[in-house]
Amino acid sequence: MKMLKDLQDGKTTSRAQTEACLARVEALDPSLHAFLHVDKTAPERAEQVETSDLPLAGLPIAVKDVLMVEGMPATCGSKILEGFMPPFTATAVQKLIDAGAVVIGKTNTDEYAMGSSTENSAYGVTHNPWNLDRVPGGSSGGSAAAVAAGLVPAALGTDTGGSIRQPASFCGVSGIKPTYGRVSRYGLAAYGSSLDSVGVLGRSVDDLVPLFEQMVGKDPMDATTVDPPERMAERPFASTVRGMRIGVPAEYFVEGMQAEVEGRVREAIGVLEALGAEIVPINLPHTEYALPVYYILAPAEASANLARYDGIRYTPREGSKDLQEVYHLTRGKRFGAEVERRIMLGTYALSAGYYDAYYGKAQKVRRLIRSDFEKAFESVDAIAAPIAPTVAFEIGSHGDDPLSMYLEDIFTLPANLAGMPGLAVPVGFDGDKMPIGMQLMGAPFSEEKLFAIGRAYQGATDWHESKPELSK
Ligand code: GLN
Repeated sequence: MKMLKDLQDGKTTSRAQTEACLARVEALDPSLHAFLHVDKTAPERAEQVETSDLPLAGLPIAVKDVLMVEGMPATCGSKILEGFMPPFTATAVQKLIDAGAVVIGKTNTDEYAMGSSTENSAYGVTHNPWNLDRVPGGSSGGSAAAVAAGLVPAALGTDTGGSIRQPASFCGVSGIKPTYGRVSRYGLAAYGSSLDSVGVLGRSVDDLVPLFEQMVGKDPMDATTVDPPERMAERPFASTVRGMRIGVPAEYFVEGMQAEVEGRVREAIGVLEALGAEIVPINLPHTEYALPVYYILAPAEASANLARYDGIRYTPREGSKDLQEVYHLTRGKRFGAEVERRIMLGTYALSAGYYDAYYGKAQKVRRLIRSDFEKAFESVDAIAAPIAPTVAFEIGSHGDDPLSMYLEDIFTLPANLAGMPGLAVPVGFDGDKMPIGMQLMGAPFSEEKLFAIGRAYQGATDWHESKPELSK
């Protein structure tokens, strides 16, 4: 990462870098609204790590507002957490701070990370730096926009069904959604606990790796975390794809997708082939079930996870007559429409009499989706596919049609259902100069291999270096 190298070589200071980021936020964020909170004291913290030889010493970063950072408000994009100050810091963030990173603020998100456009934030939409009338994607839209606009060199996001990869694609940046369990979820406001993962967005793969390396590992505070199996642990990969077999799933090129998206992704696959990879057509036959399965399981888990926001714990509280009134008014007034919809869907899917028909059935189909991937990874090193069927759409264009918004997720949900890592890389633009991304999916714990492929691709192309023209 260039900024890190400049810091380490003494070409710049962490205070100067942090101040530069804050100045850029001040100049550009009024038109982007990527940030929900900016910490003006960041330069002072930056100065404290100035002389250390920590691996990320002085690197300014931003954190999606579903992750807890002590001393900064955490809203999860929701009015139900308005004014909440978390008493602790999420493990993934703490590890970065311990390595010398400086958190400058919290970025906008769809309420509780439920959405694909950041339009579900209770605090207003984030605008795409490539075209302010378009969405930045979601739910990590604030982090993606902040990186694309050069407000920070890297930002943390979370991905439950695509929320790192899709906004990365819409904003023309890179992003890693790690293997489920590789990065701790402790201190992340839970959405779909069996799907949530914490990852990084940055301009290039090189920008992701130093942060990713610090974030991973077993955490006693999250029982689902594991260290990679030993056979995977020490496998440095050169930045090459020579000799690798890369699968291209037929099911990810569907009718109705934007022709330029398919075109650019196929060109990018052609680049990998020219670099020495063997391109192998594959099938992931249960792909079509990912959407219905996800939209049963994620709301089911969300309905349980969001039960804790009751007006008694956290802040704030509505009503006072009796407990029932407090519950009803606090939740009724302070959750947004999409969150309420998910809670209702999830509660229904989990209710006695319907559990087997919906939740139980969805879990079985989830297993089949994972098996598709396991079978594929017996014969390929990675899978290359589009991230979303379209480029970033206009703000408001999905209006009141939640189903059409859910359809944006068809290519990203399978990796979460299967627990697989996914790397997003920019691969070009459409005719309106909106960015297009490609995802590389791998077997569990194969992030290093995905990085090698991504680096090889970015060594041969310069899409990751394109920057939006932002006035001011
Ligand atoms: N768009 C998906 C949803 O609304 C995924 C969101 C996410 O990954 N957090 O659930």
